[in-house]
Formats: sequence, structure tokens, C-alpha cells
Amino acid sequence: MSFAFHILGTSSSGNCSVIETNGVRLMLDVGFQGPRLEAALAKLSLEARAIDAVFITHEHSDHCIGLAALIRQNPALKVFANRETARRIQGALKVRPDWQIFETGTTFEFRGHQITSIPIPHDAADPVGFAVDCPAADSATARRVTWLTDLGHATEVIRYHVALADVLVLEANYDDEMLDASGRPQHLKQRIRGNFGHLSNLAARDLLLGLREWQATELYLGHLSKECNRTTIVEALMNEVRAHKTDLRVTVIDPLEDNPASLS
Ligand SMILES: [Zn+2]
Ligand SMILES: [Zn+2]
Repeated sequence: MSFAFHILGTSSSGNCSVIETNGVRLMLDVGFQGPRLEAALAKLSLEARAIDAVFITHEHSDHCIGLAALIRQNPALKVFANRETARRIQGALKVRPDWQIFETGTTFEFRGHQITSIPIPHDAADPVGFAVDCPAADSATARRVTWLTDLGHATEVIRYHVALADVLVLEANYDDEMLDASGRPQHLKQRIRGNFGHLSNLAARDLLLGLREWQATELYLGHLSKECNRTTIVEALMNEVRAHKTDLRVTVIDPLEDNPASLS
């Protein structure tokens, strides 16, 4: 049984990852423009045509801007989204994807993978995260990859799914002081900080420190703001989390980098 997880990037200028299990390739979000996506896939020796399905969390462009280009190169692509997200994205598309509509909060199957859509609080039509259970011969090699970006705050449902992840991608969007000091207008600062905005570094740390038991061995902090965060600040905060969970490998994703992380 083969397994690989590649993060092509996660930041406010593009979110995209690929899970490869036994020759099936699932993409989570497609927030890279066409040429950038092609280049990022090429570095992994992958082509657009090799992707079997893409799963879209919400309609913000940093999660779906590359969809049209991906479909042009791969017309057979299955595109999973809930109804509201599909409707918003379709409104801006000339092509019609092979939409595979799911209900938010349900678990569905795709080529041996169980995918659970997790409702998240964020200012989009019906935003979700995903937990992907990859098939395995035995439980020792089974992997659950959980993709949680763009969270205004951590709900009970999110805590539940964070605790069950083997490989966790979690947002750590901004440092409070840097956001304060930034030249952003007040209404935008409020939007980012709001219950339906983004998760701060401290909120991400507190979410993890507040878990009684969790099983992840790989943690990726993502969706860092380029202007209002630094990888060094997140790294320092995560030392507290490492001290509580010594089997955890922590990677802070640099928002300026493409292809920042691969796991197999
Ligand atoms: Zn986003
Ligand atoms: Zn968003």
C-alpha cells in the first residue's frame, strides 16, 4: 500500500494539496492559477491529467482559482463540493465541471477513500474542511488526512476532527500584534478576527493545547498571512505544543513557498 501527501502550498495566495494512495490521486482545493499549478505538479512528476478528483472547501479564489485550467487539461476530473459552493463557483466558470455534490457534514466514498466534510465557521456560502481516510491493508498503515484552513473559531465539531487526524493541516493565520500594526483598514481587521474570519496563532495553539487526547503524528500549520505573520513566531508557539506531545512532528508552512512539504 502506497501513501503520499504533498502540500503544493497553503496561504492566502493559494491552497492546494494532493493525496496519492495506491495510484489514486485526490486534490484538496485548487487555489493555484494554471501555470503555477502545472509547475507545482511538475515538481512532483505529476500532470493535471493524473488527478482523479478535486475536493473544494469553499468558493474563495485562494481555494478554487485553478479549477477552470485543471478541467481544460483534465475533462474527466470529478469535482466534489457542496451545492452552495458549486453554485457560486459555477457562476464564474465558462465550462461545466463534472460536479459531485455532497451534503455538508456527511461522509462519502471515492475509489476506496472515505471523505468526511466538516462544517467550518468562515465567511463563505457553506465552507467545509475535509477528513480523508486513505485505504490501507491494516490499521497500522491507515491514515486520516485532515485539511482545516479558514476557521473563524474552533467549534466542537472541529475539535472532534482535529483529535482524530493522523496528518493534520491547521490554519495559523495571523499574529495579533502584526495584524494591529498592519496598514489594513479597520473593517478588514475585524473581518479577519471575527467568528467567521481566520484562526490566529494563539487560537491555533490553544485549540491544540486544549485537547485531552489526539493521535496526530504530523502537524502542518498553514494559511499563514504574508503580511501579518512569520513562520518563526508560529514555530516558537508550537514549542509549547511539542512539549505536550512528544511524538508530534511539526512543520510550519512558509506562505512564500510552493511545494513546501511532502510526506510518504
Ligand atoms: Zn483561504
Ligand atoms: Zn476563505
